[in-house]
Amino acid sequence: MPDPTAMTVTTLKDRPAPRPEPVRTESIIGLDRAALGERLGDLGVPERQRRMRVSQLWSWVYVRGATDFAVMTDIAKDLRATLAHRFSVARPEIVSEQVSVDGTRKWLLRLDDGKEVETVYIPEEDRGTLCISSQVGCTLTCTFCHTGTQRLVRNLTAGEIVGQILLARDRIGDWPGAEAEDPRGLPSGERKITNVVLMGMGEPLYNFDNVRDACAIASDGEGLSLSKRRITLSTSGIVPEIPRWGAEAGTMLAISLHAVRDELRDELVPINKKWPIAELLEACRNYPGLSNAKRITFEYVMLKDVNDSIADAKALVKLLAKIPAKINLIPFNPWPGAPYACSDWEQIEKFAEVVNRAGYASPVRSPRGRDIMAACGQLKSASIKQRASARLKAPA
Ligand code: SAH
Ligand code: SF4
Repeated sequence: MPDPTAMTVTTLKDRPAPRPEPVRTESIIGLDRAALGERLGDLGVPERQRRMRVSQLWSWVYVRGATDFAVMTDIAKDLRATLAHRFSVARPEIVSEQVSVDGTRKWLLRLDDGKEVETVYIPEEDRGTLCISSQVGCTLTCTFCHTGTQRLVRNLTAGEIVGQILLARDRIGDWPGAEAEDPRGLPSGERKITNVVLMGMGEPLYNFDNVRDACAIASDGEGLSLSKRRITLSTSGIVPEIPRWGAEAGTMLAISLHAVRDELRDELVPINKKWPIAELLEACRNYPGLSNAKRITFEYVMLKDVNDSIADAKALVKLLAKIPAKINLIPFNPWPGAPYACSDWEQIEKFAEVVNRAGYASPVRSPRGRDIMAACGQLKSASIKQRASARLKAPA
């Protein structure tokens, strides 16, 4: 059973502010190089210097994790002062941090307008996965998802999306020369965040431009340097945006499939009424660069007596037969008032067996951060913590 006493909860909002910049300044996090160059131009930096200054700022912020212009010693002192007056390197504010006994971390973040989202970090021995949010709430209404019961508040900006990566790196000491305050469970390798998944709150393809811009910054080779092969966007199936995402961003893709028949998927993932399974799978087949090494992940939440029959399992492998695919079976995480229950473990195993026999390796993995999950009801964004805990799992 989960042991709620095992986790550590820290409230960070009462701590002294880590950044001295005034709150009203614009954060440069999330600006691309061109926009950063323009801002420097506004400050009077001559055109011939801008490219170099942008590179310096970029490296301080995204390679070294600077949170203050004062440390940027290769930039002239006056310019540093001007920058600090007008801009900040602020990340979203951390309201609370939870650390599971297995090292899983969950941060509740407060954005400038007071809205809240969550970010989850799942360390394994040789890698670490960060699950980030793309919207506050979600306009879609998947019936098994708690976010679907909340009204959309707004899209996150590119800066708020990239900011989640930066603050996670701050907290786990993932910058050159930095150390984690709490090193429990962190991977042994040099980089603590090796993978990023857009599987937190929101439908990322409904915030296309900001998510794309954030992914471009995250994969910039002179900055955060996360390969696009290590960034995965999860979508409920916004079909027309899938080819566009392939062309403009080209990260790995995960599809929230959850049902093999339109009749049932219409109910579970109502966007299916607009773009049914056949159209969704056609978009998947055409996703650029697919191969056995670059597969689409199909997510399938296990709902007792709803989508978990052996016939469903057989139909699932048949449906995906011609697509380079991975299958992720997600035990359903109940939330107060949820109209579903999680499939029995025995049934999940039987279902997985069919999937395994069709050549998909270990599709069910045991959940991580169970102790944090046990405390879910205490946090504000109840939906994402359940999803994230469910979705991001340890190797079987
Ligand atoms: N909106 C996007 C990405 C965020 S959801 C999407 O739907 O793909 C990340 C994953 O968690 C999705 O596969 C979603 O269907 C799943 N999920 C949502 N609620 C869940 C729950 N209560 N239990 C298990 N998985 C859930
Ligand atoms: Fe939105 Fe994804 Fe939840 Fe559906 S599963 S309501 S698309 S966050």
